[in-house]
Amino acid sequence: MALAEPSRLTKPLPGGQDGATVVLHPMVCAHQGSPPEFMAMTRGKLRAARSFFGSKEDWVKLPIVAFLVEHPGAGPIIIDTGFHPSVAVDPKQNLGPVYGRIYRIDMRPEQAIPAQLREQHGIEPADIRVAIMTHLHIDHASAISEFTSATYVLGQGEWRAFHASRLALNGYVRHHVEHAVEYKEVPYDSPLIDSYATFGRAFDLFGDGSVRLVYTPGHTHGHQSVILRLKEREALVTGDAIYFTRTLEDERRGWAMADEHRWRRSIGEIRLYRRENPDALIIPGHDPAAWAQLEPRYE
Ligand SMILES: [Zn+2]
Repeated sequence: MALAEPSRLTKPLPGGQDGATVVLHPMVCAHQGSPPEFMAMTRGKLRAARSFFGSKEDWVKLPIVAFLVEHPGAGPIIIDTGFHPSVAVDPKQNLGPVYGRIYRIDMRPEQAIPAQLREQHGIEPADIRVAIMTHLHIDHASAISEFTSATYVLGQGEWRAFHASRLALNGYVRHHVEHAVEYKEVPYDSPLIDSYATFGRAFDLFGDGSVRLVYTPGHTHGHQSVILRLKEREALVTGDAIYFTRTLEDERRGWAMADEHRWRRSIGEIRLYRRENPDALIIPGHDPAAWAQLEPRYE
């Protein structure tokens, strides 16, 4: 199935309310074992790839995550989708034979994001009308098929990167994305875009300042992060712009990387943001220690 290219957003999405703040629920849908060298390289790409075949003793257990954001006017929103519910039973079905086998995935059916929304928040997947995708990598896009009422908001360039060659090597899976859902792209090169805080390119998703998408390319070509306005402070959901909080200091890149130069620029913007907003809650993509300390709810 070939899908039409997503249209570019020409204005904020409906539902904005003056002075709105949001409620944020970080959610872990699974843990995935990975060689540490694969996530923060010290000795080059070949070594990192080889580390899959050595001892698994030092493998780290990475949280695979998504977020529920409750907005007073736009309703419940998700950021990323986590793994498809079937991954709890048979990872190969949804993730494919290679990824499904090499990683050790630890997931219970009730951890799937649709199940968590339903059981812990009384929200049906069909109630989700907006899904912000930080990017389309396998562990973020695997459950797109479960949220068919949502408009999926992608960063500029992500769709094209997804459809470029060597999908699997780039961390993408075709059938995760090829569903008849609505995709929209944030035009980070257009007059709709402003700078915000320390980020050069930002889009105010509902026009009320409550949810801002900031362009953080590098990990993938269209990667974006999300700044949320809570009652007393802001939260920055970095996505995979940084896997770990310490990435801001050691700048050790992971194996997956579309553009290292732009990635370093993006983490520079995040580092400055942290310096200028010491109260902000900064949530990295796959940091086990940071995630173990998160509350289930921030308002
Ligand atoms: Zn990623």
